[in-house]
Formats: sequence, C-alpha cells, structure tokens
Amino acid sequence: MRKLVILGILICIFLMGCGDKTNLEETTKIDLSGTKEYIILHTNDIHDFVDEEGDSIGYQNIVAAVNYYKENYDNVLVFDAGDMNNTNSAMDSSETRDMVLAANAIGYDAWTLGNNDNIELTKEMDFPMVSSNLNIEGYSNCKSNLIIEKDGLKIGIFGLSAYSSFAPETMDKKEAAKAAVKELKSQGAEFIICLGHLGVTKGDESSYSLAQNVPGIDLIIDGHSHTLLKNGKIVGDTLVVQAGEHLEYLGVVKLYVKDNKVISMEASVLSKADISLLLEGR
Ligand SMILES: [Zn+2]
Repeated sequence: MRKLVILGILICIFLMGCGDKTNLEETTKIDLSGTKEYIILHTNDIHDFVDEEGDSIGYQNIVAAVNYYKENYDNVLVFDAGDMNNTNSAMDSSETRDMVLAANAIGYDAWTLGNNDNIELTKEMDFPMVSSNLNIEGYSNCKSNLIIEKDGLKIGIFGLSAYSSFAPETMDKKEAAKAAVKELKSQGAEFIICLGHLGVTKGDESSYSLAQNVPGIDLIIDGHSHTLLKNGKIVGDTLVVQAGEHLEYLGVVKLYVKDNKVISMEASVLSKADISLLLEGR
C-alpha cells in the first residue's frame, strides 16, 4: 500500500514536472518581444439570443466588450461564423429585426451564412458575408473572399457554410477552400482566416477535416456544432476556435505579429462574468 502511495506521488511529480517543462519550452521557444498584438473577437450560433438573459451575455455587453478592446488595442477585428438567426424566424419578425439591430451594433467585419440564416439577411447587414461554396449571385453584400489590411498586415478571409436551404452549394467545400487560399495568397494575404459554419462533429465535413486537408489556413473560426473550445484546438498548422452557442461566450484570439508575420496565437473565451469583470476595470 505504502509503495503504491509513493509510486502515485512519484507519478504526480513526474507529470507536474513534464507539464512545467512543456510550458517553459513553449514560452521560451517563441520570443514575443517587439511583437504587435492583434485581437480577433468571434461569435457563432447566436440563434436570436441577443438579449442579456440567463447565461447569454447580451449584445449590448458584447458591444461594450468590443469597444473595450478597441480602446486598448490598435488592431481589433470581429467575426461571426453563422446561424445568427433561426430558420423559423421570418424576415419581418421581431426576432429577426432585433438580431439585425444587434449585429449591426456589434459592427462585425465579416460573417458567413449558417444553415439557419436566410441569405436575404445579408441585405440588412452593414458588413459583408463571405461564402466560397454557396451561390451568392445577385447579393452585392456577399463575396467569395476578401482581404482586410490592418496596420500593414494583409488578412485574407473566406467563408464556408455547411449547407443552406436559401442558397445552393455550388462547389465542394475543400475545393472551394483550396481555391480561396490560392486566390488570397496570390493577392498577398499574409494570414488566412476561414469563417466556417462547419462544426467539429461531422467527420469529413468538419472543420478539423478541413484543417487536415487544406494547407494554408491559419485560423478557422467555426460554428454549427455549438461547441465550446475554451482554448481552441490545434489541428496540423491550423488553430480551430468555436465559442459555444446563444451568445454565452465571446471568443478571443490574440495574434502576436512581427514583421507582418503572425508568430504566435492564443485562444480563449469570455463568459458573461468575465465580461462584467473586464468592463468593471475600465
Ligand atoms: Zn446553430
């Protein structure tokens, strides 16, 4: 019995030791001195939960959090990965009106269409929708991909949607992704983000499978499976993030940039309580 206890302690010490060593290696490996910090905020699968209620943060608090970051960081971008709305929320319903109001107040830089979003919604938004695999013809506010230049860094953004009842799929997702990465790189993109309404659960169709099979995507901001990835998940060379559902979390990705190159990324999420703390300290 005593031997077992000692063995247990030894295993604990060994594991703790390994943990520390790995952390140390991680922090000493990358020299972050002289880097610029970029903040990428993200939401997904809001499904009309725009009010502060239960665990939902409420869009006004999200607006305040976005402003907090914009006051404290020079380079802030905000994205949504789809399913802002519900299929059964009619375009002229109060739910849809409230959601559009919230989205425009948050002031996203871009979003992608979820399977529950009517493509007509894109006409109401003050910001572009990106989708590389859906038919977006006739919608001036929709693009296959776009580049946002921030403080000298060219950030390429494209979108992929699981499917849509409102806009038929015109291209296989992975082929669409490969074409988008190629086009964005040819236009000089130095960091590539996919806004993917894909989810982590559907095997070949998942964001993990996309990361494994399409090189060149640095960050996938995911949705669809309503999964909370508190610190994201690294798949190959890609960081995949997703912030749960119903506006219960705001996702935060911090980029460390040196000489127009992202040298490190850090993912986290903020709950309603975290955001109250953040705003208290203003
Ligand atoms: Zn959803």
